[in-house]
Amino acid sequence: ETQIDIRNVGKVYGAGSDHPVIALDGVTLSIRRGEFVSLLGPSGCGKSTLLNIIAGFQSASSGQLLQNGRPIVKPDPSRTVVFQDYALFGWMTVQQNVEFGLKAKGLPKARRAEIARGLIDTVRLTGFEDKFPHQISGGMKQRAAIARALAPDPDILLMDEPFGALDAQTRVLLQEEIARISSETKKTVVFVTHGIDEAVFLADRVVVMSPRPGRVREEVLVPLPRP
Ligand code: ADP
Ligand code: ADP
Repeated sequence: ETQIDIRNVGKVYGAGSDHPVIALDGVTLSIRRGEFVSLLGPSGCGKSTLLNIIAGFQSASSGQLLQNGRPIVKPDPSRTVVFQDYALFGWMTVQQNVEFGLKAKGLPKARRAEIARGLIDTVRLTGFEDKFPHQISGGMKQRAAIARALAPDPDILLMDEPFGALDAQTRVLLQEEIARISSETKKTVVFVTHGIDEAVFLADRVVVMSPRPGRVREEVLVPLPRP
């Protein structure tokens, strides 16, 4: 069952200017519910642009994007994003950051706290609830950011180079956690990376993009069972 339908999507930055940049040139892609898709390609090929358009943060210059048959027009809690730089709120504890993700649900405070503790446990951060982002390591910050992104119980989790700021060892640990979390939660995941190893390790399908202007060059089903 198709969950995200991307039809002939183009994106031009600075369309009216002397130096327009064609970031995406006719991207067509369908993503099934529960599928883990890696978008792989060199820096500058338009991966982040495509992810931001799926998120609803940016609009496409041409083409159509549908989620369950409905146009994607703005950000929505059914799609959450994990960023390379974590984007945690520095003035909030881990617990408060995760509870922020539950804000839209209108739950009583005690229930929010309980759900947040469960999510913190899912990402294995129990014991660090009251730490502020500057008090924990990069890997732990990204775990907290993942818990916050899971909080609205989104249908689609969008990840933009989530390991980009992490050292190799932390990267491997977090990669295994994301594989586990995505198979446990059965979310649809779109994972952007320029690293072929992590693209293949995590994905059901790898979508290879061409250098700018970004196009889908090839789609590869990953035949190996995921861990
Ligand atoms: P990737 O994520 O694959 O590195 P991006 O989507 O960030 O690629 O960028 C695709 C192209 O669009 C690049 O040439 C980049 O310089 C350009 N670009 C990205 N954002 C902007 C912007 N806000 N204004 C102008 N050009 C941009
Ligand atoms: P991860 O646990 O996500 O792999 P790291 O590899 O960066 O994150 O950290 C490894 C371990 O080191 C953590 O699980 C944690 O126990 C400890 N640690 C690292 N930095 C800190 C810190 N600032 N405060 C407390 N413990 C830390």
